[in-house]
Amino acid sequence: MRKEILILGGGYGGLLSALSARQHLSTEEAGITVVNRVGSHQIITELHRLAAGNVAEKAVALPLEKLLKGKSINVVVGEVQKIDVEGKQVALSNGSSYRYDNLVLALGSETNYFGIPGLQENSLTLKSVADANKVFAHVKERIKAYATSKNKADATFVIGGGGLTGVELVGELADELPDICRQYGVDFADVSLSLVEAMPTILPIFSPELIQRAVSSLEARGVEFLTGLAITEVNGNVVTLKDGRTIETNTLVWTGGVQGSALVGNCGIEVNRGRATVNEHLQSTSHPDVFLAGDCAVVFGPEGRPYPPTAQLAWQMGELVGANIAASIKNFKMDTFKPIFSGTLASLGRKDGIGTIGESGIELKGTPASLMKKASNARYLTHINGLFSLAY
Ligand code: NAD
Repeated sequence: MRKEILILGGGYGGLLSALSARQHLSTEEAGITVVNRVGSHQIITELHRLAAGNVAEKAVALPLEKLLKGKSINVVVGEVQKIDVEGKQVALSNGSSYRYDNLVLALGSETNYFGIPGLQENSLTLKSVADANKVFAHVKERIKAYATSKNKADATFVIGGGGLTGVELVGELADELPDICRQYGVDFADVSLSLVEAMPTILPIFSPELIQRAVSSLEARGVEFLTGLAITEVNGNVVTLKDGRTIETNTLVWTGGVQGSALVGNCGIEVNRGRATVNEHLQSTSHPDVFLAGDCAVVFGPEGRPYPPTAQLAWQMGELVGANIAASIKNFKMDTFKPIFSGTLASLGRKDGIGTIGESGIELKGTPASLMKKASNARYLTHINGLFSLAY
């Protein structure tokens, strides 16, 4: 009997699950439906560039309908409201509901505000194309306003959080702000661009040498680093730091942390700190008909430490989930998840970057890192295009 596969989320995990499932299952064997909040598959690893106006929206928001055309995969644009894992049904906020035989949860992560007073109400985020567009429009608006107001808060830009998201964003802004200033007749010397990080250093995943390279490259372009200083409160446009100092700014972008999707965390499957736990086949440890892909799940490495929630992990999970659902439907043996780490690359603006390559961690800096980052994006796009042509 034909099975129904319902996939929640059209990001890296969801899209790859759908393509991989269709590659292994004919339309007689299974119907596949992808539900996503928006009509596009978003290349979120490039959002920092969109947020600084350094890339066109069409390069980072790929229409799902167009991507999946002719692949017999239904696309539903809608907001998931309730996941009923006992009744095997999912309700959307528009009133429609979908039953399933196999469910894929690939709803990603959400911004974590850690309960810091005033932070959520008074900051921008960088989790979607809509967020990135908002950041860019806001930055331009503030510079334009400063041209007449000369209010220092309009020319003060603060990024909260020195992980990869915050550093990549500050690098793009450092490159683009001088041009935006010129456009509105503002002297870039009037602009303050700072990154606040609670830990003693930004990007602790890299070696001290690479961290120093990132810091000096960005400082040379006007970025001020305030490290070892957590943001403790935000009151309107006043940001308070751990040492009691305050910064008056009309632009705070919060990139200080992520947490698993609350919908997944609260749907009744087994979770660990809000993220779904999985077995070696990427099935929920409590509900074997539910498979997980991407940031809403937690995968533990051999030393018992969770892998960081990255795009490369999400896409690899998605591919295996599609194949394993097909195997379970056909009563074949399922494969074990064995992630391959190609490394970590951080862009530091248009022309600079740092990174490590492969499991051995060969270090790169400057143009090679920057080019490698572009190549890794191109590789992903080629990869999904390859899968499109392979799907049934
Ligand atoms: P993160 O959790 O990695 O970094 C957040 C940073 O904010 C941390 O350094 C933390 O110490 C800091 N912070 C927390 N509370 C703070 C406070 N109150 N004040 C100041 N600083 C505070 O988050 P992220 O950078 O969004 O990354 C999320 C995941 O996505 C990670 O796994 C990352 O590897 C991945 N990612 C990868 C890339 C890439 O590969 N280029 C790009 C972006 C994100």
